[in-house]
Amino acid sequence: MSVKRDELIRQLIEVGRDAAGRGLVLASAGNISARVADDRFVVSASGVWFDRLTPEDFVELTLDDAETGAPSADGVKPSSEWKLHHRAYRARPDVECVLHLHPRTAVVLASMGREVRRITLDHAYYLGSIGVTPFFHNGTDELADSAAEQLREHDCVIMRHHGCSVVADTIDMAYRRALNLEDAAQATVLALQLGDTETVFPEDGAQHA
Ligand SMILES: [Zn+2]
Repeated sequence: MSVKRDELIRQLIEVGRDAAGRGLVLASAGNISARVADDRFVVSASGVWFDRLTPEDFVELTLDDAETGAPSADGVKPSSEWKLHHRAYRARPDVECVLHLHPRTAVVLASMGREVRRITLDHAYYLGSIGVTPFFHNGTDELADSAAEQLREHDCVIMRHHGCSVVADTIDMAYRRALNLEDAAQATVLALQLGDTETVFPEDGAQHA
């Protein structure tokens, strides 16, 4: 096992535990991955709880269609949502990490057809633009393909009534994005509670100035 692979899994475990502690995933929902070679990635296994991930809870898969989805040699089954990761890496050769989490506020807003507004400098810096996909059942090709299509244009995608996928060239950056996505959603809700339906980061809203 390569040092790089071990280190990536260590970082994913750290992110998974932190995400569970913050309620960005509940129990074993969500799944996280990192690219370990041009055509291979490791993804969390099916049914593992994020607050107690271990290195044995990751499965290595190939981006080759013919082989993908086959369980790893030790028999650990990949997350049922492995296709989300597979399609994302294929759509974005620049991406090294895909985090699929279930951040409540962001998902509720998107499900209601409301925009997640970028309000602070951090939101603007980390999030870029945010894509949204309709609801598709988990594990389906439709879900994976529609999310990958959005990821061609955005680093953050919210799947209505389900969760989000964020991507980046490092695990650290992907997680900063995920944290800022939920923070932007919470800030949007706060603004709405205060009766504000317009405020966005100044550069986003320049045309309104
Ligand atoms: Zn999910």
